[in-house]
Amino acid sequence: MDIVIRNARVLTMDTNDTEYERADVLIANGIIEKIGPDASVGIDTEGARVIDGQGKLVMPGLINAHFHSPVNFLKGALVDAPLELYMLYEVPPLQCQTVDGDYAYTRTMLGAVELLKQGVTTNHDDCFFVPVPTEEEVGAVMQAYTDAGIRASVTMCQVNVREYEKYPFLYDLLPDDIRTEMEEVPLLTTDELIGHYEQFIDKWHGTSGNRIRCSVSCSAPQRVTPDCLRALNDLSAKYNIPYNMHILETKLQRVLGQEMHGKSFIQYVKDQGVLTDRSVVIHSIWVDDDDIAAMAESGCSIVHNPISNLKIGSGVMPFRRLKQAGINIGLGIDEVPVDDGCNLWTVGKTAGLVHKIADPEYHQWPKEDEILEMLTRGGARSMGLQDQVGMLQEGFRADMLLIDLDTLPFTPLHNLKRALVFCENGASLKMTIVDGKIVVEDGEILTVDEPALRKKVRGYADQLERQLQEMTESADRLAPYYREMYLKATARDVGMNRWAGPMQP
Ligand SMILES: [Zn+2]
Repeated sequence: MDIVIRNARVLTMDTNDTEYERADVLIANGIIEKIGPDASVGIDTEGARVIDGQGKLVMPGLINAHFHSPVNFLKGALVDAPLELYMLYEVPPLQCQTVDGDYAYTRTMLGAVELLKQGVTTNHDDCFFVPVPTEEEVGAVMQAYTDAGIRASVTMCQVNVREYEKYPFLYDLLPDDIRTEMEEVPLLTTDELIGHYEQFIDKWHGTSGNRIRCSVSCSAPQRVTPDCLRALNDLSAKYNIPYNMHILETKLQRVLGQEMHGKSFIQYVKDQGVLTDRSVVIHSIWVDDDDIAAMAESGCSIVHNPISNLKIGSGVMPFRRLKQAGINIGLGIDEVPVDDGCNLWTVGKTAGLVHKIADPEYHQWPKEDEILEMLTRGGARSMGLQDQVGMLQEGFRADMLLIDLDTLPFTPLHNLKRALVFCENGASLKMTIVDGKIVVEDGEILTVDEPALRKKVRGYADQLERQLQEMTESADRLAPYYREMYLKATARDVGMNRWAGPMQP
């Protein structure tokens, strides 16, 4: 036995919703060997770490089902603007800054440490590489996750169409010189991208005892060519790995679907044969009943990112209708600059609150059990890891949290699940265990020298300030055209409203 936790309160989050007032959890070789009252009685604990669980809760580690680590250094850095303008400042299309391996490693590690210290044991990183993936940058990202001790699935989220092809009206709005500059930005062909993926999967997928995995991403269906969209799906099928796609995050994307294909992007990906039970539909806000039916039929998962949606004004996802259709839902931070942190507890709390502004029928509001399910096994299912993590069950990987119940959020304690969703913010975390290894204990990350990491990040301050300045200047030049496009799309009647306020800005 490697770890024995005795006499803890245990919330398994299994499908029977098993809870123990007092139980033991036995961990060996990265696996949950046994859970139950007195499970440790009579076992040999020689060489094991024995933890007194009295007054503590053991629960599954949280699963951040959607993330973009390349912007981990942009906490609190970006303008408040709707997605299309926000992205302009986040990744200016005419300003392709490559980074070295050391920078990419430090950046990824910073996010991994923040996630682990707040109880996230699994991270689905939709990682993009500007302008194209290099072995150095990809390797640095994967090495950081390996060293941090977190469970991670990572994509290469690459765009392979021209900037103006991703948006409605933009081509006509842009002056010639800007259009020409957009045409000079290097793009990967489908074959090149698939080649990068094959190498990536060959080198990294299933490493560190399957803790580190690869998955596939098209970013969004309008951001790649149709043959690329299908080739990525073939790759996802070949390796049985998730296929990430941002769909109908904004009203403008609803308009774009109509303009480009005469249908919504859900119907488009369905017709392209790429909406499957491996698909991870990120956001799913501006969807209609036909879209919901198509998603339910496909068996895809959705990742809900409510703080991101609020930060950049995307609208409110129709949670209850998606849930009633039987679609699996996980929760995501999305990225550091929209969360301005890495806290999945506050994402859960926000998911518990935001749907109330969209529906006066209080029976439809998300319940604390549903929030906890999305934070754990819903996220696991979206990553294809439902047989490994997301629940505490014998034979599952040992990813779990030890939470101190002798803290203010749990005093007095009325209802455990409600307290976890609405009172706790990660500060009561005593221990994070991933794959049977203790990676955080008493507020300290054990896999990394955190003070040295923070110092290193601070060392990038001048470089970051310079980069942000250049990014802002580059984006400012394009912003008036994007605003015009945004206003034009927003003024369209698309037969639905996902904002709590009026449709017109
Ligand atoms: Zn995203």
